[in-house]
Amino acid sequence: MTDCLFCKMVSGQISPNVVLENDHVLAFRDINPQAPTHVLVIPKQHIATLNEALPVHVSLLGELLLAAKQVAQLEGLSERGYRTVFNCNRDAGQTVFHVHMHVLGGRAMGWPPG
Ligand code: AMP
Ligand code: ZN
Repeated sequence: MTDCLFCKMVSGQISPNVVLENDHVLAFRDINPQAPTHVLVIPKQHIATLNEALPVHVSLLGELLLAAKQVAQLEGLSERGYRTVFNCNRDAGQTVFHVHMHVLGGRAMGWPPG
C-alpha cells in the first residue's frame, strides 16, 4: 500500500535500522524503544491487522515467529527471554496498520501487560 509507513520501509522509500531481512519479512529497531531491545518484525506483504489474516497467510505468519527467534538470538536474548506482541486495533493500541510483531527484551517484563 503506497501510503503505508511499513510498506515504504519494504520498498526502500524509508530506511529503517534493519536487524534482519529475508524474502518474506523485515525486522528493524523500533523508533521509540520500550526495552533495551525493541525490534519490529513485519511481513513484506501488506496485511493491515491480524483481523485481515487469512489461511493463505499461514506460512507468512509463521515466518514472523521464526524471525523473532532469530532476532532474539542475534540480540543475545534467547536464554534469558523476551516478549513477542501483536497489537490489534484500538484497545490494544495499534498505531501502524501493517501487521507487525514487537520483539522486546533486555529487561524483566511485567504481567499482566498494561
Ligand atoms: P503499534 O502501536 O503496535 O502499532 O506499534 C507501532 C510501532 O511502530 C510503535 O512502537 C512505534 O514506535 C513504531 N514506529 C513508528 N514509526 C516508526 C519508524 N519510522 N521507525 C521505526 N519504528 C516506528
Ligand atoms: Zn503496509
